[in-house]
Order: sequence, then structure tokens, then C-alpha cells
Amino acid sequence: MTPGGYLSPPVHLTEPFDLDPSPVEGCSVCQEKADERRQALDLGFMAVAVCAAIEIGRHPRHRVKPSTQQ
Ligand SMILES: [Zn+2]
Repeated sequence: MTPGGYLSPPVHLTEPFDLDPSPVEGCSVCQEKADERRQALDLGFMAVAVCAAIEIGRHPRHRVKPSTQQ
């Protein structure tokens, strides 16, 4: 006899993206995000760290910004 109906096998998710991309030299956004990622990892804010890493990973795109904000 088998008790219970649900079987939940452990799910292994492999991260498809690079969690540790290198910030591009000379890009202020990359430097900023790299700093942010480092601090987030330090504080244990994985979600923030991942967001920053993703932003760094798509460097050519985030670079194009219409705003002249500094
Ligand atoms: Zn960049």
C-alpha cells in the first residue's frame, strides 16, 4: 500500500544566464552594476545581484540610453 498521492521530485533548475559577467571597461552602467552586484552579494540580496548581473550581461543594449542623466 502506498500512502498519499502526491510525489514531488526535486526540481533542478540550471541557470541559463551568466551570473558573473565581466563589466565592460569604460562603461559607467557596467561599473555601476558591478558595484551594485558586489554589494548585493555581500548583503545576501541574490535577486538584486542577479538583476545587476543580467544588466551587465547585456552590455551593448543597456548602453544605448536616450536620457542625458548623470
Ligand atoms: Zn555596459
